[in-house]
Amino acid sequence: MKSADVTALRRDLAGQVLLPDDAGYDGLRTVWNAMVDRRPAVIVRCASASAVATAIRFARAHGLEIGVRCGGHSVAGMSVPDGGLMLDLTPMAAVRVDPERRRAWAQGGALLGAVDRATQPFGLATTAGNVSHTGVGGLTLGGGMGWLARRHGLTCDNVVSFELVTADGERVRATDSDNSDLFWGLRGGGGNFGVVTDFEFRLHHVGTAALVADLYYPAQDAATAMRAWRDLIPYAPRRATLTAWAGTAGPWPFLPSELHHRSVVSVGLVWVGDPDEGREQVTALRAATPAAAEWIRELSYLELQTMDDDREGHHQRRYWKGHYLRALDDAAIDAFVARGAPAGTDEPALLPAASLQAYGGAIADVADDDTAFAHRGALVEFVASAAWTDPAEDEIRMANARSFGAAIEPFASGAYVNALADEGEQGVRRAYGAAKLARLGVIKHRYDPNNVFHLNHNIPPITGG
Ligand code: FAD
Repeated sequence: MKSADVTALRRDLAGQVLLPDDAGYDGLRTVWNAMVDRRPAVIVRCASASAVATAIRFARAHGLEIGVRCGGHSVAGMSVPDGGLMLDLTPMAAVRVDPERRRAWAQGGALLGAVDRATQPFGLATTAGNVSHTGVGGLTLGGGMGWLARRHGLTCDNVVSFELVTADGERVRATDSDNSDLFWGLRGGGGNFGVVTDFEFRLHHVGTAALVADLYYPAQDAATAMRAWRDLIPYAPRRATLTAWAGTAGPWPFLPSELHHRSVVSVGLVWVGDPDEGREQVTALRAATPAAAEWIRELSYLELQTMDDDREGHHQRRYWKGHYLRALDDAAIDAFVARGAPAGTDEPALLPAASLQAYGGAIADVADDDTAFAHRGALVEFVASAAWTDPAEDEIRMANARSFGAAIEPFASGAYVNALADEGEQGVRRAYGAAKLARLGVIKHRYDPNNVFHLNHNIPPITGG
């Protein structure tokens, strides 16, 4: 890449082009996971679909690997190409709402919080993830699980149309009737087919109120509480998402001090709607065994959608292992409570925390064949997540997260593509299964036969579609 080429790109693009010595370069290559430290040869800040097309053509002409950045939350750092061209969509972050038609249009670089902030003044929302600084782009294209999913489907189930720029720089629209094969693939198939510049979402009236309940147990009581919690999942109303968490307690004021810094488990729920109705659901949770502490809070939907923003903030080193489970038998619960700890471990500080989030409801109403997203029959999603700051702990933190993942794997039915880290091809197979992967491969071949977009959980192109 010669400097004259970059000058020409700057002229053609009418947008910002950053090289490694430019001010702002380091900020833009920095993503959510502090383990990711890659240096693109060039960062192109795209403010329009035509800028995206120009950047793609430039990258291909110069043999540069492309990384597409929206929220930058892929735990594997998929948006940052080492030595390649980072296509930064963050200047395309606008969201527009039509409350009468119950539609929202989000640009390809928008964050989830922008969608919630634009829709909530009308009491509307669409399913979004649980942390507002996550990108609409990556989350929606992989599926999109959130507190509204059991009532209104995954985020991808709420997409009405996608506007896409392909590997050839062409603009394509995908809906149920236009390019319906692409529409199928984009709902779960990730960033494999091109760069989405606009998402059109269906909105729902959800009001503005929510309730979160967590009941905490010391490790020795946790299995009993979790079995009762598990038995409630099939009967929970769709406004409720049952949750469980296993981790190391902080010095939290609501928890007895003897549990501080010990392994604890919480079971609970997130309720979107009238908090009093949500409280009625908590009564059933209490029935199994007395909790050591309860933490119940009423909050607005916007507060719910941002309550984990700081805890899940940037600048920490991160590693994940995720699984889907179609059932949660007693042995799986025991493994969850044990946190994958080596026998005799009495020091929980270095162990990862893990969450379980219930699926079902509207997620399972959609026929498996209707979207690329698989695993609609999951009972719960498991994610073990390690977060730390000292690079000297990298090995032990990742090893412990792998142990936790391995302890749950015998009970698992597959994996969520958006929770994959370094599983490679095997992870992609677990995310889609053989039949969907074959269908996705044919669509990939139609829209990106040269696998230009491969910095993702990659679907190899297959000829013969
Ligand atoms: P990026 O790293 O920017 O992109 C991820 C991938 O998507 C890359 O391969 C990129 O090329 C591709 N991509 C992004 N935008 C586009 C686009 N416009 N066009 C084409 N390709 C694109 N998932 C859930 O389902 N529910 C949750 O509640 C949830 N919570 C999370 C909380 C945190 C703190 C984090 C880190 C992740 C969470 N996730 C959740 C997982 C999340 O869905 C994935 O990490 C997702 O990849 C993030 O998307 P992004 O746009 O932020 O990431």
